[in-house]
Amino acid sequence: MPETIFDIFVIGGGVNGAGIARDAAGRGLRVGLAEMDDLASATSSASTKLFHGGLRYLEYYKFRLVREALIEREVLLRNMPHISWPMRFVLPLHKDMRPAWLIRLGLFMYDHMGGRKILPGTKVLDLTKDEAGKPLKPFLKKAYEYSDCWVQDSRLVVLNAVDAAARGAEILTRTKVISAKRRGQYWEVELNERGAYRKLRTKVLVNAAGPWVAKVLRDTLEIDTREGVRLVRGSHIVVKKLFEHDRAYFFQGSDNRIIFAIPYEQDFTLIGTTDQDQTALDPPECSPEEADYLRHFASEYFAEPIAAEDIVWTYSGVRPLYDDGASSATEATRDYVLSLDEDGPPLLSVFGGKITTYRKLSEAALARLDSHLEAKSGNWTAEAPLPGGDFPHDAVPRLIADLQAQYPFLAPKLAKRLIRTYGTLAGKMLGEARDMSDLGQDFGGGLSEAEARWLVENEFAVSAEDIIWRRTRLGLHMPPEGVKRLKAWLIEQKGHESIKKVS
Ligand code: FAD
Repeated sequence: MPETIFDIFVIGGGVNGAGIARDAAGRGLRVGLAEMDDLASATSSASTKLFHGGLRYLEYYKFRLVREALIEREVLLRNMPHISWPMRFVLPLHKDMRPAWLIRLGLFMYDHMGGRKILPGTKVLDLTKDEAGKPLKPFLKKAYEYSDCWVQDSRLVVLNAVDAAARGAEILTRTKVISAKRRGQYWEVELNERGAYRKLRTKVLVNAAGPWVAKVLRDTLEIDTREGVRLVRGSHIVVKKLFEHDRAYFFQGSDNRIIFAIPYEQDFTLIGTTDQDQTALDPPECSPEEADYLRHFASEYFAEPIAAEDIVWTYSGVRPLYDDGASSATEATRDYVLSLDEDGPPLLSVFGGKITTYRKLSEAALARLDSHLEAKSGNWTAEAPLPGGDFPHDAVPRLIADLQAQYPFLAPKLAKRLIRTYGTLAGKMLGEARDMSDLGQDFGGGLSEAEARWLVENEFAVSAEDIIWRRTRLGLHMPPEGVKRLKAWLIEQKGHESIKKVS
């Protein structure tokens, strides 16, 4: 293969790498991205899945971060109204925790710092009368209810990569950057692309390797640097649905931490998160202690205590925070830091950041690199919907009704899920189908062969895991027998399932 010369080459297909690649491609730059596993396979599929300002960061005086994130919530909601939606959070007042006046003050700032237009403001709830009080212990009498947004984190990453590719970027999954060296005015980058060796050149290199950012700097790029990353593990537990309404809870703990209990995938409640320093780069796992901590924390509030047997799934992610020397993992800054090394062809390394600020981080990254690139345009992503998101944020019910009118055989639950996954592209995925059998094999949990094929052909899905845990969250609903059939089907297609993570 002839050697390609890129303007920007990005290491890492998490939210930050995919966001930077999309933004750069839209500016007319020649962009490449390598992800050693699947898109969003690391931290960006293991978050709490909130577009939020981060109410608790106000206690650490992180006003810039909170303001930027609050403003960003509605920008993102408008650009991806299929995969994100407003969510109300119920924060019960507890006499042993922060005083009511302090919480009210925090929420007043939260309501007014972020130029809210779509999201409703804070209100007071009487828990003895409101439905939100029903699953809680009777001593909890009053709560505040405020707004943030929910987002399907891994789909956000995938759709950024899909859009980057549509704008000309080369997105390489299962491709590891094994070495990169400065040679004259370029970086010479070596890849293991699904087992094959490949070399390319790029003017600018972006290190968006998340938890691996320091390892890439030291081992892959062989750069002597003092900059460090603080790896902080966060775990979640998923339990059977604990309440019927669609609001989430924000609980305060006696250790000064907070956790959320959020309605999840129709039938479940998601509870998290923890903050544990993590030393190794091994795949993170929710420890039994973390699961117990989350159960007991939530059981301080829910009338029915949560038993270990109620846990149906757990997941963990590692926050790649900038090492600011904070004493505790909870206090370490969640803000992002972009470090530019111009000792030869430029290298930009990304530390920290939130899902919520990925678009602003991408703009900031392109601004830092501007003098090294010949971009054909400036900032553009604030007004540009992600694939399938080109409709008003409040039009989801209309889209569902339209889809059902066009495909009357779709059960309401399936029609809703398809709009919430593919937005205006749902019809394209269903094509000419006239009944369910036209969608091919039914793998269970609502996954059809037509949908699996769409994900392989349009969204870089390769394995069953990619499909059931990152392109969708159907893994929670699918029978093991269905997963087995999906794997067999993938092997039949192109031997996809045989492609494993490169070492
Ligand atoms: P990652 O998603 O980890 O991506 C880095 C990628 O680089 C990986 O996929 C990896 O495989 C790849 N890579 C590494 N080395 C190489 C190499 N040599 N070659 C090729 N590829 C390589 N933020 C919010 O806004 N809202 C939330 O609710 C929220 N909740 C969170 C809860 C938890 C428990 C955690 C851990 C984080 C949460 N965050 C939240 C923060 C957010 O998830 C992260 O900041 C963000 O996902 C980091 O994205 P990233 O792209 O930097 O890293």
